[in-house]
Amino acid sequence: MSAAPASDFLPFTRPTIDDATIAGVTEVLRSGWITSGPQVKAFEAKLSEYCGGRPVRAFNSGTCTMEIALRLAGIGPGHEVITTPLSWVATSNVVLAVGAKPVFVDIDPVTRNIDLARAEAAITPATRAIIPVDLSGLPVDRDRLYALAQKHRLRVVEDAAQSFGTTWKGRRIGAFGDFVSFSFHANKNITTIEGGCLVMNDEREAKLAEQYRLQGVVRSGLDGMEVELAGGKFNLTDVAARVGLGQLPHLDEFTSRRRALARNYFEQLDTPAHRALGLRLPVPDFTQSNWHMFQVILPEEKLTLNRAGVMAKLQEAGIGTGVHYPAIHRFALYRRLGWKDGDFPHAEYAGRNILTLPLFPAMTAADVDRVVKELVKVLTANQKG
Ligand SMILES: *Cc1c(COP(=O)(O)O)cnc(C)c1O
Repeated sequence: MSAAPASDFLPFTRPTIDDATIAGVTEVLRSGWITSGPQVKAFEAKLSEYCGGRPVRAFNSGTCTMEIALRLAGIGPGHEVITTPLSWVATSNVVLAVGAKPVFVDIDPVTRNIDLARAEAAITPATRAIIPVDLSGLPVDRDRLYALAQKHRLRVVEDAAQSFGTTWKGRRIGAFGDFVSFSFHANKNITTIEGGCLVMNDEREAKLAEQYRLQGVVRSGLDGMEVELAGGKFNLTDVAARVGLGQLPHLDEFTSRRRALARNYFEQLDTPAHRALGLRLPVPDFTQSNWHMFQVILPEEKLTLNRAGVMAKLQEAGIGTGVHYPAIHRFALYRRLGWKDGDFPHAEYAGRNILTLPLFPAMTAADVDRVVKELVKVLTANQKG
């Protein structure tokens, strides 16, 4: 079989950047100031407005915002941080980066998010924080999360990399809670190409975050400079911030477009005939989730083809798919720290079989039809026995 022509290829995601943003970036490039400056300040002001007036600072990744949040919370050697094994590896790498110990607990197989009952059971005297992840934009139960955090005096670093635009009981993710970290990586619901931001509780934390962001430097007067902590190099450029400023006004339209496409997937996949194929669909949340991704879980016990085989067949049909994510505790680094196969069966099953189907604002309902048709074809042709 020959590959579909490149122009017909449907990627699993693609950013939407309008002409006004491209023109705006050109202006910044011509302005004489291209790194952190007025565009970053303006972007932060808009993000703070979005987050109900809470302090927000922009950074050059979503990863560093989580690491900095852990540092602001004073988390380091001797401390444990509870998190999910079904996430981008950044979520637990930042715990290692500050010298603390990540403690994984299994996911809820329906939501695919951290199982909060298991999280509570994993708390020890060394536990200092919990990092929940809103996988594919489906919110972790914030009522239970913060009740648990309060009861056990834990800090929360919300890994909301995927949930910009998501709400919980009518409130925006980011507008309440403890630390909230967003990513603006190219694949996220709004982008700065690379980048992220951290929502904090007060100006003291925000000032400290600024120091961690740029070598610990504090300036005063025209020529004064002091350094009291070993910060890093995590500042966002004005060019990137200008992209973000051009994305924000489209957030609601992006989110409703994603929801409509997710509904299209459900209308076609959630039928008796297709349910018989054994595919596990995501939670049908059309009010809170921002539908960062549409992820199905393949029924490995029913198929003669593994996930890579399914991906290859879809690729031949001109359809891109993604894997988000293999279970973190099975990576060599984490095995060396003591985790092993069988520790978290739900996360392991999902890690082997989860598949991200195409979903992005510029997609059409006809694209969804095409994905479903090809996926059903592959599954039907490769049933066991
Ligand atoms: C994207 C992502 C991150 C990291 O964001 P970067 O901006 O790439 O550093 C962290 N956690 C999750 C769940 C993500 O999806």
